[in-house]
Amino acid sequence: MEILHVSAECYPVAKAGGLGDVVGALPKYQNQLGHIAKVVMPMYRTKFLYEHDFDIVHKGSFGMGEYWFNFTIIKERTNKLGFDLYLVDINGLLDRESVYGYGDDTERFTAFQIAVVDWLSHWQHRPDIVHVHDHQAGLVPFMMQNCFAYRHLSAVPTVLTIHNAQYQGWMDWGLSNYLPNWDSWQWGKLDWQGRINPLASAVKCARKVTTVSQSYLEEMRSNANGLESLFEYEKGKCTGILNGIDAAVWDPAIDTYIAPNFTHTDAAEGKLANKKILCDLYNLDISKPLFVFIGRLVHEKAADLLPQAIYDSVYHMEGKMNFLVLGSGEYWVEQQLENMKSQLVGYYNSKIGYNEKLSHQMYAGADFLLMPSRVEPCGLNQMYAMRYGTVPIVRNTGGLRDTVIDYGEPGGYGIRFNVASVGDITYSIYRALEMYKQPELMKETIATLMELDFSWETSTAQYIGLYESLK
Ligand code: ADP
Repeated sequence: MEILHVSAECYPVAKAGGLGDVVGALPKYQNQLGHIAKVVMPMYRTKFLYEHDFDIVHKGSFGMGEYWFNFTIIKERTNKLGFDLYLVDINGLLDRESVYGYGDDTERFTAFQIAVVDWLSHWQHRPDIVHVHDHQAGLVPFMMQNCFAYRHLSAVPTVLTIHNAQYQGWMDWGLSNYLPNWDSWQWGKLDWQGRINPLASAVKCARKVTTVSQSYLEEMRSNANGLESLFEYEKGKCTGILNGIDAAVWDPAIDTYIAPNFTHTDAAEGKLANKKILCDLYNLDISKPLFVFIGRLVHEKAADLLPQAIYDSVYHMEGKMNFLVLGSGEYWVEQQLENMKSQLVGYYNSKIGYNEKLSHQMYAGADFLLMPSRVEPCGLNQMYAMRYGTVPIVRNTGGLRDTVIDYGEPGGYGIRFNVASVGDITYSIYRALEMYKQPELMKETIATLMELDFSWETSTAQYIGLYESLK
């Protein structure tokens, strides 16, 4: 089968979170199964662009409201990623250094989607599946079915994967003229509660919808940032498929970001040596258990609870542990985390920003990873942590519930708590300290964690099965 993935992110080209990791891995594994999976994404000004060679494969133009845009599709020359990578270049709109966060993101991603559909309409053949990811590609199924110029694409089956339903790409109806001439009888397929909602539109128009874990799918019927009743209504076409992790990128035995490398046989020494590097760099005490947090500092991740939970743990548990936080996000959380550095010298440190290398070093060198998320569609951090022998401490939600079993249960290997509150987080840290006091238990747990299989093979086969059901 030929599958075209449409996404705003794809690792290592451009990544802001888990979406990038998934779109950088899934197509590669689909190709390994003998399919032809391709990725099309915006051409941002990232390092990857300057370090690789590209061929121009298509040039086109389109109107969006009162603007006219020329676009170019370029293709990476060497197939280095394990799949064909196509970038959409729209001068002045997409060619920015970051993926998101600009005042004209609505225009940027709408234009990206129009360019993709327009390009697709010029193909000599049709792909078997168009697989769109999140709201930044959510208007593609609607356009393929309802824009007059593209209706010849309407028979191509479309699949939507929701990596995060919190963000939906809302647009006021005044912007409806951005879409190429479309059948206005079909306005209901764009609308959700009085606005154009690209994510809701994709749920309505795609032939199948997947979420990145089964638990998240179930939770969305009661908690989906306003789309609850839509997921209840459309549940017949929805499936949960757990993400895998790219074992070729996330492997402590070969990871070039960490030193020394280690496997499950020498994990104790390997992890300790990596911990030493972190402790030296961040003025922490190697003899104490190291708790880390890596991720976006936003409400969804319950990052706002971290400062108080860290304070309470250090003060009420006599400073028996160290903390290291890596992330960026809401300004006031960043500020609180920065200010704490001078108050908890030797117990806590943080690095505000995005740092791929440091994240790998932290998965490798930490003893425990904190993930108190309020919402977690799948969560990759806990899987990376486990692969690197770090015990995950997670809230019982979404993909965290599907991947972590509490060590108090038979066969368990992590720590799970129910409420996103300072109390539950500190109590879990206390439980972690109890675990850390038992070297045999830690050793066994690390061995169990590193043997767990979160590879892409199972999920890839599930996606292929889903596509085949649409033939
Ligand atoms: P989400 O996609 O909701 O942000 P996931 O757990 O699915 O969360 O994926 C997060 C990915 O982003 C992981 O690969 C994680 O290591 C990475 N990441 C998040 N924040 C940072 C950061 N500040 N520096 C480096 N990597 C980060």
